Formats: sequence, structure tokens, C-alpha cells
Amino acid sequence: MADFTMTIDGERVTSAGTFGVVNPATGEVWAEAPDCSPGQLDEALLAAQAAQPGWAADLAARRTALHAAADLLMARVGEIAPVLTAEQGKPLKEAAEEVFGFAYWLKYYADLPLPREILQDDESALVEVVRRPVGVVAAITPWNFPLVLASWKVAPALLAGNTVVLKPSPYTPLATLKAGEVLAEVLPAGVLNVVSGGDELGAGLARHEIPRKISFTGSVATGKNIAAAAAPDLKRLTLELGGNDPAILLDDVDPAEVADRLFAAAFANNGQVCAAVKRVYAPRSLYGEVVEALADRARRARVGDGTHDGVALGPVNNRRQLDRVTGLVERARAGGARLLAGKAPTGGGYFFPPTIVDGAVDGDGIVDEEQFGPALPVVPYTDVEDALARANGTTYGLSGSVWGTDTDRAAAVAERLECGTAWVNTHFALGPHQPFGGHKWSGVGTENGVWGYHSFTDLQVLHRAKA
Ligand code: NAD
Repeated sequence: MADFTMTIDGERVTSAGTFGVVNPATGEVWAEAPDCSPGQLDEALLAAQAAQPGWAADLAARRTALHAAADLLMARVGEIAPVLTAEQGKPLKEAAEEVFGFAYWLKYYADLPLPREILQDDESALVEVVRRPVGVVAAITPWNFPLVLASWKVAPALLAGNTVVLKPSPYTPLATLKAGEVLAEVLPAGVLNVVSGGDELGAGLARHEIPRKISFTGSVATGKNIAAAAAPDLKRLTLELGGNDPAILLDDVDPAEVADRLFAAAFANNGQVCAAVKRVYAPRSLYGEVVEALADRARRARVGDGTHDGVALGPVNNRRQLDRVTGLVERARAGGARLLAGKAPTGGGYFFPPTIVDGAVDGDGIVDEEQFGPALPVVPYTDVEDALARANGTTYGLSGSVWGTDTDRAAAVAERLECGTAWVNTHFALGPHQPFGGHKWSGVGTENGVWGYHSFTDLQVLHRAKA
């Protein structure tokens, strides 16, 4: 028997099959999630299809409903946040912030101005651009920020008049299921359906004939599979994929001054952030100081069960990811790198000590690949042009940052990063108003802001002849 229910056509639905969800702080299964059958997936999509015209008919009602949804999520944070911590591992405070993040995105889109877009209004014609909903949207999310990343899809999709079938990761389905149960109290039946299951459920959703758009966040490999599945039906696509974000430190940076921000940008959510700093390029003149400042933060970071007070970093979310991070770090060590690590609990749970990898070089897996975990390589450079070339020498292009005292100089370097967001003296600073998307293999399309809203619409030119 599942401990949480799916939401299909406004109803709480269980399933014949279930799968276990592990608490990464213990390594033990703590709850069962429904394993959505193909028939139930059909039901969810048909419910979304049936609800869509009515939902699309009234913009004012949609705005009101999105506000109500946000208010309800905030009121129920005490129910949802502990579930997120238990399945994802993040500290309870961050889990609560994520619930508020979902609400914040709903409110942003509830209030997004949608002015008429008039291209021409003269004696011959009135020509305007109309944004039409695409229909049913399939939203597929990963395990690092299940709620916030769902909100980046659900909020603009619903504002635009679409209906949604949302499928979270099998590692972290529960907080999303819970949010679905809560939101069903204020959204009309069929508008937001939440189903849970494994990767094959995502594949079934992506190739199904009903969704007109797939909005996906996850790995590059899965993004390519989804693009292939969507192609025969020419479904619209937004793909937010992986990143290997570089941070380039210039030679006028003060390592002590930026160390806290840099460490936070690399180790937030235990490094399991698509847009975390994943490799640092430090000038040779400051290299030792930078490594030591970061190692100091790593040694001081408290790692543990996210329900315990004062814990800054939880466990890695799942065994597969823990093995991946461990493997990358061990290979770097075998290749001659020095590891400067903090402490992590031993025994049960997927804990890994926050680790600075000193002396890694381009070509090492820990530098070239996305580690997506609590290990950060620092690479020395002598010439900033060379550092830029190495930072850009990747198939990834999600985001990056440049750090220095002379912010104009840093911005001039940042502008040359080949990525969707280039930060100066900060990293991983995001907001609902700010478009977010990847260049190269880090993605297709854009989420957030008015651009995110546009991505859930098909553009129509409405041309009224006057003469
Ligand atoms: P993943 O690609 O394995 O899984 C993501 C989701 O896709 C899950 O819900 C999964 O069940 C589903 N899925 C798997 N195979 C599928 C298929 N063939 N068709 C349809 N759905 C399928 O990714 P993950 O391991 O959960 O997440 C980690 C990755 O996500 C990292 O690479 C990270 O960088 C990336 N990510 C990107 C962003 C971003 O905004 N760019 C944000 C967070 C995470």
C-alpha cells in the first residue's frame, strides 16, 4: 500500500504496484510511492485534455487560482518540507525554502503582466500577436530540487492556459505527490495531475500522443532521449540539462573575501545543483590561498541528517550518485591530486565529506565531467585567455562566473563565457523574473520570466484588415 497518492482528475489515486523511496540519511526505504500503470497515465492525460479548454477560457480565474495555490502551499509547508528532507536529504530549513520557492514562482506568474502585443495599428490593419496555450504539457523533473523545478514548469504553463501532467524523479516523488494533493484543493480537477513511477513512466509520457509539449529538467542523456521521442509528433520542447559551470578567479580577487560565496555556490544542496560551481580556475599567484580558503570552509561545514539542527550539508541523494562522486574523486587522487576534505558521518546513509580537489587538471574526470556532488576541483592557470578557453572548452554551457575586485574587467571576461547565465562575483543567483537556460548541450529553450511563459504558448498573428 502506498503512503502517498497520485492526483488524477482531482482525485487521490493509489495504484496496484508501489516502489520504495529511500531516506538518503539512513539508506533505508521509508515510504512507498504509487507506481503509475500505463492505464493510469492515460487517465491522467485524458483528464488534463478534458480540463484544458475550460481552464484556458478565463485568465482572471487562472490568476486567482495560482494565488490560492501559492497561499495554500505556504500554509502547508509544515506537511511538505519534512517529506522533502526525508526523500532528498537537504536540511529541513532548505526544504521549507523550497516549498516557499514553489509558492513564490506561482505568485510571480499569477501577477505577470500580459500586455497586448500590437505590431501594427494604422488605417490599413490592426495586427497583434496572440499567445495561445499549447494544450497538455508533460513536465518531468529530477531529484535535486523536485519542487522548485516543478514550479518553473507548472506556474507558467498554467498561467498560459495549459494543463499539466507532472512526473517527479523516482528518487524524490513524495513531496511532489504531497504538493499535488494539496493543490488539488484549489485547482479545478484535471488541471494539475501528478503521477509517480520510474524512468519508463517518463518515457511513456514523452512519447504519448496527448501532450503537445514536454518540459524536462534532468541529464543530457535523458534530454536527448526525450528529444528523439518528441520528434515524430513535433512536440514542443524545453530541456534544462546538466552543467559543468566554471568559476574563473581573476588575479585581483581577494580569496578570503570571496571564499564563503564561492564555497556556497559550489556546495549548495551538497553540490547537487545544475548551476553549481563545478570547477574553479585560479591564477597561479593566488592558487594556494584559494585552495586553503575553500578547504577551510569544507572542514567547517557540518554534514549530517537534514533533520538535525545546525546541519549545513545533507547526504548525497542516492547510491548511484554517491558512487559516481566517489569514483571521480578517487580517480583524481590516483592521478596525483591532493584531497582536502571535511568530515561526514560514517555508517548508514549516503554521506560524503565536502572535498576540495587540489591539483586536478583539465582532462581529469572531476574537471571535465559534471560531478553533481560535494567535491570541487581547483585548477591553476597563468593566462586568463587560456582559462577562458578551458572554461569554454566543453559541450556544457549552462552558466559560469568570473570573480575579481575590478567588476568591469570581470564582467568583460564573463561576457565571453559560452553559457546561458554569466555571473560576476556571485553564482547561482536566480529569480523567477530572470530567464534561465543552457547553451550547447546544457539545454534547449528557456525557463522563467516572460520567456518561460512564452515557451508554453504557440504564437499566433491576428491580422484584422481595416481597408
Ligand atoms: P535523469 O535525466 O536521470 O532523470 C530526470 C527525470 O527524467 C526523472 O524523472 C526520470 O525518471 C526521467 N526519465 C529518465 N529517463 C527518461 C526517459 N527516457 N524519458 C522520459 N523521462 C525519463 O536526471 P537526474 O539524475 O534525476 O538529475 C540529475 C541531472 O539533472 C544532472 O545532470 C543535472 O545537471 C540535471 N539538472 C539540470 C537542471 C537545469 O535546470 N538545467 C536542474 C537540475 C538538474
